[in-house]
Amino acid sequence: MAIERTFSIIKPDAVKKNVIGGVTQKLEAGGLRVVASRMVRLTEAQAKAFYAVHKERPFYKDLVAFMTEGPVVVQVLEGENAILKNREIMGATNPEKADAGTIRKEFGTNIERNAVHGSDAPETAAAEIAFFFSGAELATLER
Ligand code: ADP
Ligand code: MG
Repeated sequence: MAIERTFSIIKPDAVKKNVIGGVTQKLEAGGLRVVASRMVRLTEAQAKAFYAVHKERPFYKDLVAFMTEGPVVVQVLEGENAILKNREIMGATNPEKADAGTIRKEFGTNIERNAVHGSDAPETAAAEIAFFFSGAELATLER
């Protein structure tokens, strides 16, 4: 299995609940390593662009409002099979349906306010990492 990189957002609800550490602990315990991390407040334009794939969905407008209501932490995670691994550690989109011990089960509130975002495939991981982090910036963080 190859070492992969994936992209994660600790969403405004989790930042507000003061569980940046709790979320990150679960990622690390699951074998992922934080290789880049930054707190940002998304603009409406950024949130709309980031979630453009959902623009026809009924929840799009609310989702953009939620994602811009407060600061988020954007992260690049690295590890064996990181994209799928992160999705496992996150749990199902709806926290009520998420497995015990997952981030969304423990820290999510509802299907919208579900604590974290994680890329779902290699193509989206690459695009989402590039949306927030430059190659030059990532290179300075190599260890
Ligand atoms: P995931 O984040 O698990 O990949 P999706 O890509 O389907 O889920 O949806 C993106 C985000 O949109 C979700 O994480 C959640 O914040 C929000 N969302 C998804 N489905 C709904 C819904 N039915 N009602 C409200 N918000 C939703
Ligand atoms: Mg998704």
